[in-house]
Amino acid sequence: MRVLVAGGGIGGLCLAQGLVRAGIEVRVFEREGGADSRYQGFRIGLDEPGASALRECLPPRLHGLLTAVTGPLAGERRVVDEQLNEVRRLGRSDGGTAADRHVLRQLLLSGLGGRVEFGRAVVGYAERADGRVEARFADGTGAVGDLLVGADGVGSAVRRQLLPGAGVVELPGRSLLGRTPMTERLAALVPGAGTLVHGPGASLLIGRMEFRRPPRLAAAELAPEVELPDAASYLRWVAMLPEPLTPEPADWVEVRDRLLGLLDGWHPDLVELVRRSDVGNSSPLTIRYAEPVPHWGTGPVTLLGDAIHPMPPSAGQGANLAFRDAALLCRSLAAVHRGEAELTAAVREYELVMLERGFAAVADGLSRLAEFTPAR
Ligand SMILES: Cc1cc2nc3c(=O)[nH]c(=O)nc-3n(C[C@H](O)[C@H](O)[C@H](O)COP(=O)(O)OP(=O)(O)OC[C@H]3O[C@@H](n4cnc5c(N)ncnc54)[C@H](O)[C@@H]3O)c2cc1C
Repeated sequence: MRVLVAGGGIGGLCLAQGLVRAGIEVRVFEREGGADSRYQGFRIGLDEPGASALRECLPPRLHGLLTAVTGPLAGERRVVDEQLNEVRRLGRSDGGTAADRHVLRQLLLSGLGGRVEFGRAVVGYAERADGRVEARFADGTGAVGDLLVGADGVGSAVRRQLLPGAGVVELPGRSLLGRTPMTERLAALVPGAGTLVHGPGASLLIGRMEFRRPPRLAAAELAPEVELPDAASYLRWVAMLPEPLTPEPADWVEVRDRLLGLLDGWHPDLVELVRRSDVGNSSPLTIRYAEPVPHWGTGPVTLLGDAIHPMPPSAGQGANLAFRDAALLCRSLAAVHRGEAELTAAVREYELVMLERGFAAVADGLSRLAEFTPAR
């Protein structure tokens, strides 16, 4: 059995790792030219089901490194006002893991070698008469496999062809994603698992990415064959504004200065957080979520992660579910590989669970969205 994966993001790569572990042939096609071609280093919070799905797919020799290059995510999630007075608590979140998407992606690439092909954008596919599927690329070439998995994120080309009617909605307003190097003073903004600042005209969602060990050094010591970036601990924040910035700023310096203008009179530590944001690692952010879709009738093409159920950040589940989708699909395909199940039935079983779980998380995120967004 040969599995083709469109998209080498964290979900697609997690799937590829699991398939390799199960002895299944896999090829991953990633649109971008290389693993470093776009900044993708923001913090994601993993819960226990998400983290254990990731471990299930990763080879055990990398588990120690995974622990070393992630950080703790525990404690109270607080809502504060723009002067940092506590307004309410959203409950504790214990036993979680803070991971940097870029570091995680580099770790997930490890050992996959030539199975991941960069610079190969999937533009569509054709189902063949023999029941197999051909993925089609932007350069006019193709690749044939028994199953094509669209793990190509929120703008998925695979979903567009498989489910042309599936709706993806863009959140109104404007979101900005900032990353600020950690200092003792700024770290105090997030004493627990996360801090949500509700101020006049803007909300700030602040999280802490504290690597247990510096990723590059940890890799050199624990798994020298893995190359990890030289990343330092930071605070990740998302600013949510009720209206777009008009005219649209040309670069981050302008975005940051416009945001600083909106934070006039806010607590100096919050102003400092934005002022010291890292120009190369901060950017505007478009937040989209999917409308539910019914099951489509299984064939040689399926979907995983944000390609099928992108969700608002209030769900805090996008990466967790991408990993859980990957682990579940791996288990189903491993059963096929061992001759214990038939391919279409195994994929169908995966799709039914994935759809129900994914769209429940989207609905949950939407029901909590008001908590995160400033009044219009
Ligand atoms: C600021 C922020 C904070 C977040 N925090 C959390 C959190 O705390 N917890 C959590 O669980 N989730 C979080 N998420 C969500 C999480 O990052 C996503 O849900 C997750 O990355 C989805 O993984 P994926 O592999 O499905 O898609 P992606 O990570 O988007 O990967 C898709 C890949 O496909 C590639 N691609 C796209 N089109 C094509 C094509 N046509 N052909 C080939 N390749 C293609 C892309 O280049 C990319 O590499 C957060 C997201 C953001 C933006």
